[in-house]
Amino acid sequence: GWRSRAAFKLIELDDRFHLIQPGQRVVDLGAAPGGWTQVAVKRGAARVVGVDLLPVDPVAGAEIIEGDFTDPALPDRLIEILGGKADLVLSDMAPNTTGHAPTDHIRIIGLAEGALDFAFDVLAEGGGFVTKVFQGGSEKQMLALMKRVFTSVRHAKPPASRKDSSELYVVATGFQEKHLIELR
Ligand code: SAM
Repeated sequence: GWRSRAAFKLIELDDRFHLIQPGQRVVDLGAAPGGWTQVAVKRGAARVVGVDLLPVDPVAGAEIIEGDFTDPALPDRLIEILGGKADLVLSDMAPNTTGHAPTDHIRIIGLAEGALDFAFDVLAEGGGFVTKVFQGGSEKQMLALMKRVFTSVRHAKPPASRKDSSELYVVATGFQEKHLIELR
């Protein structure tokens, strides 16, 4: 069985966008308790690495790294474990919520922007990136940047995501490194 209800969100996103392809290298940021990592393995990814601050029970077919995704040594370590750059970076990371909506929103956008920066370091040409965001608008800058660097950027609210939660996902495909270099 799946370890988290969150697993169904990735299943629904993958059914709609066909993100996980057999043979791919996949990174799952904010992996605990391991649902998305399980889905990535089950859907045929060749190498899957899950990263979380919290421990994650072993997932057959995946590697787990316990630590902060902002660790500057992580991108190189991941590329080594994966045997090359990643085809897909997933982030379901969420901060500990404060109950103060504006603060929570700023924190989650901070995580999403960090995940995007991380994806820029580890993604292979043509790769994909999925991140959780909250409805609220302050991710506009991030979206503008993503639209210049990926061929397609879409929002999605998977049915398994509670309707009363403002959580949604940004799904970007077709990473083009040359556009990133132009911007930098
Ligand atoms: N997708 C997971 C699943 O299906 O089981 C659920 C992920 S849970 C909603 C969010 C996770 O993000 C938490 O386990 C939290 O520890 C992790 N997280 C938050 N900040 C992080 C950071 N800076 N580095 C790594 N993981 C982080």
